[in-house]
Amino acid sequence: MTITSIKGFRDVLPEESARRHVILSTSRRILEAYGFGEIELPLLEKVELFSRSVGASSDIVEKEMYAFEDRDGAVIALRPEGTASVVRAYIEGGLPRSMPVARLHYSGPMFRRERPQKGRYRQFTQIGAELLGRDDPGADAETLCLVADICTAIGVAGMRIEINSLGDAACRPAYREALAEYGRERLDQLCEDCKARLDRNPLRLLDCKQAGCRAAMADAPMMIDRLCEPCRAHHDQVLSLLAAAGVEVHANPRMVRGLDYYCRTAFEVVASGLGSQDAVGGGGRYDGLVKALGGPEVAGIGFAFGVERLELASREAAEPVAAPRILIAPIGDEAAAAALALARRLRQTGTRVEVESARRRLKAQMQRADKLGVRFVVIVGENELAQGRAMVRDLHAKQDHPSLFALDDDALAIQAVLTRLEEVS
Ligand code: AMP
Repeated sequence: MTITSIKGFRDVLPEESARRHVILSTSRRILEAYGFGEIELPLLEKVELFSRSVGASSDIVEKEMYAFEDRDGAVIALRPEGTASVVRAYIEGGLPRSMPVARLHYSGPMFRRERPQKGRYRQFTQIGAELLGRDDPGADAETLCLVADICTAIGVAGMRIEINSLGDAACRPAYREALAEYGRERLDQLCEDCKARLDRNPLRLLDCKQAGCRAAMADAPMMIDRLCEPCRAHHDQVLSLLAAAGVEVHANPRMVRGLDYYCRTAFEVVASGLGSQDAVGGGGRYDGLVKALGGPEVAGIGFAFGVERLELASREAAEPVAAPRILIAPIGDEAAAAALALARRLRQTGTRVEVESARRRLKAQMQRADKLGVRFVVIVGENELAQGRAMVRDLHAKQDHPSLFALDDDALAIQAVLTRLEEVS
């Protein structure tokens, strides 16, 4: 019996992997232009890091975490997200003193035991960034510029940034209570999950997907209408800075984000063509988090993108993977040795070369060349071996060039000969 992968865990095959590399390198280039330095974080953390930051009543901590007891009795978890680890590392590494304003980015796998579907896996990859030590609206606006620039550079189809304010410790508690009260009055219309959330996490009632809950909450009070004066001023300033920078955002008063640590600015990026899992990324401000994890009073804002969803949303715009430049077609075992040595020399100069099996007929080798889309086939048969020279078949110009170069020619000289052929047609 064959052994399959675990449900929700997937393999990334070379074609997709190549596109993911482009996404990772493009976003890294932009993050670095914005002054972010990379932080590498462990995959395993103590479980309380997440219960204290993401929130004990969040779906992630309640139902989705891969937590287990280590051999020494410690309860540890595969990280479900990156922000908590960044903040832990920031405090542990003494950065509040050495780097009062820290700009950190990370990427890597995250683990959540969700119900798998298209765009939702139990292991997925995030690219994230955190800006710590800035509580001014300029930091929020700059973060959203960064988010927009990354999506644009990657070519995310139908990108749309949605924004909301979740208030702060001054205005959220009263709103939370008003929302819970509103929900309690409609208890019989709510799903079981929402009933359970009512006391612990009533904001989540606003983003429940169940039709009954949506109808019940249609006229619910919104945080954005009940912000205290400082939160209102902060939000207005973020919006005007974004308008000045030319970044388009759309108000979504129902967006609450799942995690407890957000305050004030919250945002999500959605893309078209992804079905129900259409958020490619999200983030927000989390001014109390550093303190909650035992550090000083330091503000922060950040975001994370899901690489699998970025890849799905940018597939149309992605450049096709380049074909190898040369296919070497040896005929017979003796030619195989010459072909291998020639390929190795060419590859050492960075040229992509494939070598066919010397035991296959030339016709089959040429079919493979067509399939790969290579332009040059270097044929090494009996005659070529005898003369010590290679014949090159140019598949674009449909022309044979017998004895074009010597089999032991310098690799750069061979490339120059091929470049000349490319230039004439
Ligand atoms: P979150 O940390 O929940 O705000 O998620 C940030 C981004 O990570 C989302 O917008 C998705 O693009 C991605 N993401 C979250 N959960 C999953 C998952 N289970 N599978 C794939 N991508 C995910």
